[in-house]
Amino acid sequence: MIVVFRRDVTPEQLERVIEKIEAQGLRAHLSEGVSRTIVGCIGDERKLADVGLKAMPGVEQVVPILRPYKLAAREFVDGPSKVTVGPARAVEFGGKSIVILAGPCSVESLNTLVDIAEHVRDRGAKVLRGGAFKPRTSPYSFRGLGREALEMLALARERTGLPVVTEVMDPRQVEEVSAFADMLQIGARNMQNFDLLEEVGRGRCPVLLKRGMSARIEELLLAAEYILGKGNMRVVLCERGIRTFETMSRNTLDITAVPILKRETHLPVIVDPSHAAGRRDIVSELAAASVAAGADGVMVEVHPRPEEAVSDGDQALTFAEFDDMVERVGAIASVLGRWELSGKRRAAEAS
Ligand code: PEP
Ligand code: MN
Repeated sequence: MIVVFRRDVTPEQLERVIEKIEAQGLRAHLSEGVSRTIVGCIGDERKLADVGLKAMPGVEQVVPILRPYKLAAREFVDGPSKVTVGPARAVEFGGKSIVILAGPCSVESLNTLVDIAEHVRDRGAKVLRGGAFKPRTSPYSFRGLGREALEMLALARERTGLPVVTEVMDPRQVEEVSAFADMLQIGARNMQNFDLLEEVGRGRCPVLLKRGMSARIEELLLAAEYILGKGNMRVVLCERGIRTFETMSRNTLDITAVPILKRETHLPVIVDPSHAAGRRDIVSELAAASVAAGADGVMVEVHPRPEEAVSDGDQALTFAEFDDMVERVGAIASVLGRWELSGKRRAAEAS
């Protein structure tokens, strides 16, 4: 961290700042230039985060030179982290293969859920998604079946073998949802619900952390830092589109975030093109683009009859559209050496 002083800083003000830096156990390296005096702080700059250097008399600017996130930073671990999910930890995020997560926006009924799960599993999906507690913009919209939906997810897992990911919205729900889910989703609207982040951080259940619709990449990484800081290192990040001036899609898929995140952090990164697009006709292309950009997986919404879906029907892929998406994603992933077909599909293709 570097402290830049005002031109009119007095020797006493300078001394007080240096004392404060040294009181935190860092070394202050004074450099008096022709026009400016600066002090370089050497040591663990996290200790200076809350001491109010910026507000001290004579200080003009405080410039962090290390990244504000530490545990999420690429340098923190040697090589990319792998996050495993499921009872046998059979699904691996951040490894060689692309992971496809698919399912309805909301869990509606056991039959529909199992239908979807069987279809997507047979086409290569490795994780079933489905909301039990739904964050909705309007309080009058369908807000999920709650516990009943959690039970359906557990049944669908039993019948299909697919691990399940579902959203948790409140710290008080973490224990209950963790008892059913293989992975906890923190949705865009809760990316900065710091109590929730810390609560899932205290647990051991893998977390899918979605980027807030107005959050910068750095803020996403700092949100992950809250979880990691409590001890849970099993975090997967998800780009799901951000709000821009554009109105032809629900959000704008920030493809740029994917390679940036891959450079900045060791955590696996996936993309949700469904919520980015808000319209089913472009989901497949966005999914392929995400894989081309380096994503470790894609999560999409699927429904056998999108027009009947209780939420997000406009962006849900039909089964045929899902199959098309898998083909496209598979083609790109194969070029990159990141495609592994499920046993059933491999058998079908061989015959
Ligand atoms: C969802 O995955 O259904 C969802 C609500 O996503 P987001 O939090 O990205 O809006
Ligand atoms: Mn949705």
